[in-house]
Parts: sequence; structure tokens; C-alpha cells
Amino acid sequence: MTLKIETQKFSVADRFLEYVQIDTQSDPYSDTYPSTGKQKDLGRILVSQLLEMGISDAHLDEYGYVYATLPSNSEKKVPVICFCAHMDTSPDCSGSGVKPIVHQNYQGEDIVLPDDPGQVLRQSDHPDLKKQIGNDIITASGTTLLGADNKAGVAEIMDAVRLLLLHPEIKHGDIRILFTPDEEIGRGVDKLDIAKLNADFGYTVDGETLGSIEDETFSADAMTVRIKGVSVHPGFAKGSMYSAIKIAAELLTRLPKDRLAPEATSGKEGFVHPVAIQGTVEEAQIQFIIRDFDDQKLVAHEEEVENITRETLQDYPGCSYQIVVTEQYRNMKNVLKDFPDIIDIGVEAMQRLGIEPIRRSIRGGTDGSRLSFMGLPCPNIFAGEHAFHGKQEWVSVQDMQKAVLTIITIAQIWEEKAS
Ligand SMILES: [Zn+2]
Repeated sequence: MTLKIETQKFSVADRFLEYVQIDTQSDPYSDTYPSTGKQKDLGRILVSQLLEMGISDAHLDEYGYVYATLPSNSEKKVPVICFCAHMDTSPDCSGSGVKPIVHQNYQGEDIVLPDDPGQVLRQSDHPDLKKQIGNDIITASGTTLLGADNKAGVAEIMDAVRLLLLHPEIKHGDIRILFTPDEEIGRGVDKLDIAKLNADFGYTVDGETLGSIEDETFSADAMTVRIKGVSVHPGFAKGSMYSAIKIAAELLTRLPKDRLAPEATSGKEGFVHPVAIQGTVEEAQIQFIIRDFDDQKLVAHEEEVENITRETLQDYPGCSYQIVVTEQYRNMKNVLKDFPDIIDIGVEAMQRLGIEPIRRSIRGGTDGSRLSFMGLPCPNIFAGEHAFHGKQEWVSVQDMQKAVLTIITIAQIWEEKAS
């Protein structure tokens, strides 16, 4: 059965325009949950809108998570699917006083953002705009991000729920709705109650281009290299002082430059990346992030940094080093490869809607990578958000409408295939 429902032209967009005006920026320097109390402002609105629709178990918990269930309307035993989006916006760019603008019927022209005319969206910088001719593009006004990452996903899930309630002829199992705080600072699932969620698997709705479906992320470790030097009074240091600062600097210059660096890699290539350094003559510390899609290669990259460290230290008698590696997240493909139906049905939903599916891997992580390892296999489907974390962020109304239909069709196909 193909889907025959009209997404009223502006309903998902209306929701989106409302949500982006609520400041929900997260804060990596806070140690509270959620990291900023204002994220709950949006959570409370979502809960009251869900309750108004008749979703009676919708609630916001003390950590800022919104949980809700659209109950099954099927006689069959359908798996419980979770649709998940995050409510916070990136700390990299202001999210306060967002003034969204709808540029109707885009015809390829430059889009100038009125509050800072230096901010211009051009097709040369945003090649995905070429596929948006005739669509309605939403941007911010030039001084803030838009927040399509991930309020597009929030609005799409909300509108899918509304439409499913309006169309009881579309059969589906229990659908769990989850909105998380603090995804942008890597804490999106820290306080998630996975037992309470009680879903079989999920889809995060936080992807970019129309049709994208992502089942692969980086595997990620953090690595700290601590170097002990030899400190002597500088007036009497000839032949006996070995500055940890200089050793650290030398180590950094020995890192590969034309490979294994973020600025030299793309696609499936991994990297080692120093992100912070501090030090005295006595001791210096370099913080790295290590990334690869393959866990064995990840370990090989770590060994390479260790080898460079050892070789560097050889020239400095009396100096030593220590390396600490901590796991950050793992490639969700390791989990998802055992559940091919989850991706296959996502792809089938898009094909039924005439959307060309784009299988992608993400050079980063998502809530989904951590959820997958918590027992909730969870690929990422498109929300339509583009150029996120910056002032030129944009999304189109038509892509959001297609994401709504994709969510509905995924739920519908799982019901059809159940017995
Ligand atoms: Zn996001």
C-alpha cells in the first residue's frame, strides 16, 4: 500500500518555526543535567502539545528527556519502534533570539540574511541548494544559527504523530517518541532510561540531505600523552635541562601531515587529531582524539602515536611518557550489521515515496551510535538540515514534509511485515 495523505503545506513548518525560536543551546562547561535549564522550555511545550493530541503518557523527566508513546492500532505483534531527535542546539553559534525566515519558491538566487548582509547563501557554497528549486527555504536572519539541527527532526516526528492520529487507517505498532537534551555536547544519552523506553530499535531523525540513511559512524577514542621533562634552573641548565614543552612541540611536528590528519582525510579514512595542549618545563600534556570506522585501525593509529612518542623521547635522557586511552563511542555498524531489516525498511520507505535513498557513513558520532551499543539499534535518517552549527544553516519545507512521510511509512511497513 502506498501512502495517500496530504501533509498540509505548512504544518511541519509551522511547528519548526515555533520550536527554533526557543533557545535550547547546550553548554559543555556545565555539569548539570540537562546542561542548561532552558532546554526544558522546549521539552515542556512538546509535552503539552503531545498531551493535547491525546498522547496521554507524554512527560518530561528531571534530566530533560521527553518520553511518549503513540499506542499500536494493529492486531499484529509489531516491534516497538523509537523515533528520536535532540532538542539542544550547538554551543558553537548563538541560538538566542533566532528569527527564522521562509524564502518561498527558491529559484537559485543568492539568499542574503537581513540582519548581517555579509551572510549570503550561494549555491557555490551550498551545492545541495541546486536540488531545491521551487522549494521554500528556511534560514535564520544572519546573527544566529537556525537550529534545524535537530529541531527539524523534532518537528517532523511531532507532525508524523499528528498525522498518524488523524489517519487511523494507517496501521502501526507502538511508537515510542524520544526527545533528548545535550546531544551536541556528547551527553545525549547519559541519563536516558533505556528500560523505561522499552523499544526494540529506533531511528534518529538527524541526518542531512533528503534520502540519506546512515548506519555507520566513526569509532572514537580520546588519548592523553603525558610527557615528563627534566627541569633545572635556566641559568644553570646547560646540558641537563629537557623541557617537556619543547618535547611536546617536537612530537606534534612528527605527526603525519599528508595522511591521518583531519585536514588530509575524507571518506572512510581515519585520523589522529591533537585538540588541546598544556604544559610546563617539568610536564606537558597533549590531548588527542582518535577516529576510524574500523576498530582495528583505530588501535593501529593509537600505536602510531605511541611509536612517535617513544621515538621522540629517545633523544632525551631522564624523560618519560605515559599514555592513557579512553573509549568515547563505537561504530554503530558493529551492531546494525546484525539487524539488516532496520536499514532495509528505511530504504524501502523512501523508495515507496519516490525518494532516492542515499546510504552514507558519518564522519562523526550520533546519539544513535551510543544507543546502538546500549541495546537499541539506531540508524540515522534525514531530517533535511544543512550547514548546521553556523549562521547559514538552512532547511527546506518540502524536505521536512518528505521526512514526515518517511517516518510514517517506516512505521507502516513494519506493521505490514509483522504477523
Ligand atoms: Zn544533530
